[in-house]
Amino acid sequence: MQYLSVAGILPPSAKCSRLMVENENPFPLVVTTFGRRVELRLGSGERVIARIKGRKLKVVCGDRVAAAPIEGEKEYLVTDIQPRENVLSRPDSRGRVEILAANVSMIAAVAAPFPRPDWFVIDRYLAAAELAAAAGIVVWNKTDIEASPESARELQAYEASGYRIYPTSTLTGAGLDELAADLAGHTAIFAGQSGVGKTSLINHLLGSKHLRTAAVSDKSGEGRHTTVNSALLSLPSGGSVIDSPGVRDFAPAIERPGQTVSGFPEIEAAGAGCRYANCRHLREPGCAVKAAMESGKITPRRYESYRRLLRLTETFSDRHR
Ligand code: GDP
Ligand code: ZN
Repeated sequence: MQYLSVAGILPPSAKCSRLMVENENPFPLVVTTFGRRVELRLGSGERVIARIKGRKLKVVCGDRVAAAPIEGEKEYLVTDIQPRENVLSRPDSRGRVEILAANVSMIAAVAAPFPRPDWFVIDRYLAAAELAAAAGIVVWNKTDIEASPESARELQAYEASGYRIYPTSTLTGAGLDELAADLAGHTAIFAGQSGVGKTSLINHLLGSKHLRTAAVSDKSGEGRHTTVNSALLSLPSGGSVIDSPGVRDFAPAIERPGQTVSGFPEIEAAGAGCRYANCRHLREPGCAVKAAMESGKITPRRYESYRRLLRLTETFSDRHR
């Protein structure tokens, strides 16, 4: 693969060493997408607008790309995408997989006392994190409102399964510093039901409102504003958040039903003791997952989530056989 742009590989200087730490990868980073154009952050920190070469290249926020300035123009041309660590994808309306973001290292599943939590949805996001080899965390927002005993129990169960819980309130500011500290060094997404406070959290972490439009100059050189599809936002205390309507309520695509169990670490771990290697932990004899549930090591609710997600994945894969 040819790397064309020199702008992205400037040597680090003492002055911008912090920037270079975050930009250790010398390939330009896609930070905004709008229509068929993207905004790139070069290794130098400079931001440029770029067009995409050809129709087949689908570039998303978080991608590292090969890009070069177009001669005689201000814009760059993206010619290739660097191999991705992972992608966040969801089935689109026609059941095809749509890629939303790339190289995501943390998925923050956001829930709150209100709207009433749907724990199955939280489990799906955490499962998506496991399957993408990203860190999964739970952000329990609106701590200024009292949690129901049921919610308190569920949060404890996540903690027992090894997930970190961040209680926050964008109203009082509680817990935001702790969350910001964990986000540093990560490329994160915030996912969760509408109304739990994802937008408020992102705005507080940014210390400002982020705009959903970008200034682009068209061929005549005149500035105009265009709607941003998705954006990678750098946080003041380090790290970044990728935000877009699709990312905020994405439903992860699981290609093979057999992968589902890897989304539930405590179930996968217990499954090592099943009599059959291909045990689906439903009605098979000698199932160690069932035994772990009976002894209280796995909560019936998490197990039920696993079963529901397995069924959903099986239906999906049957339809696309
Ligand atoms: P999103 O749909 O997940 O992006 O949620 P928003 O950020 O739009 O917030 C939904 C509503 O919850 C808004 O009315 C916010 O003002 C409110 N909200 C956000 N964070 C908090 C919080 O910590 N406490 C309380 N009480 N309300 C909050
Ligand atoms: Zn089993």
